[in-house]
Amino acid sequence: MAKLNPEEALKYLRWRRIGDCTRCDLHRSRKHVVFGEGDSDADVMFIGEAPGVEEDHKARPFVGPSGTLLTWFIEQVGLRREQVYIANVLKCRPPENRDPEAEEIEACAPFLHTQIWLVQPKVIVALGRFAGNLLTGEPFMSMGKLRTGLWTYENAKTQMSVPIVPTYHPTYVLRKRGSVVERQTKLKVISDLQKALRYVEEGDELSV
Ligand code: SF4
Repeated sequence: MAKLNPEEALKYLRWRRIGDCTRCDLHRSRKHVVFGEGDSDADVMFIGEAPGVEEDHKARPFVGPSGTLLTWFIEQVGLRREQVYIANVLKCRPPENRDPEAEEIEACAPFLHTQIWLVQPKVIVALGRFAGNLLTGEPFMSMGKLRTGLWTYENAKTQMSVPIVPTYHPTYVLRKRGSVVERQTKLKVISDLQKALRYVEEGDELSV
């Protein structure tokens, strides 16, 4: 078989490897598998927690209000949504948007690791504490501490080492709507995304 380019390999992963996946119980309640979307050659990869109700309905990540806000954040740092890659840790929506369970993560995470390997981003932006905890390997750390640390995604299997920038999930920002905290958090997210872009420009040398 001819060697696949990243875009073709992502399609192969989605339709031949994941397909109508039943590897965990979330397949019983989902409407669609929400694989991910964006530039298969993106420098910046955004990773959230799991699809919500609108994502489950439309089979796309970060649509609806949280997606609109994420797109706005991306544009605030001079990028377009089409230039990045967006995915979630879980590809199927947990009922009532509950937190993912350990066995669901164990079943689904290999797909995410393969996505990261295929896209080969220069930086990963972890959206929210859940994705931040998982990708940094710090399961109990608060977002406040995650944001101020220096983190790297390490994968022994693929031999990848990619800087991680954890930041607030757009849904968290939406929950603070109309408050001082909303404005403050938006500024923090923009600052985090600017930091992520410095990783793209300066590589692993960035230390502040
Ligand atoms: Fe499969 Fe992942 Fe969906 Fe579970 S969450 S059914 S492992 S695609």
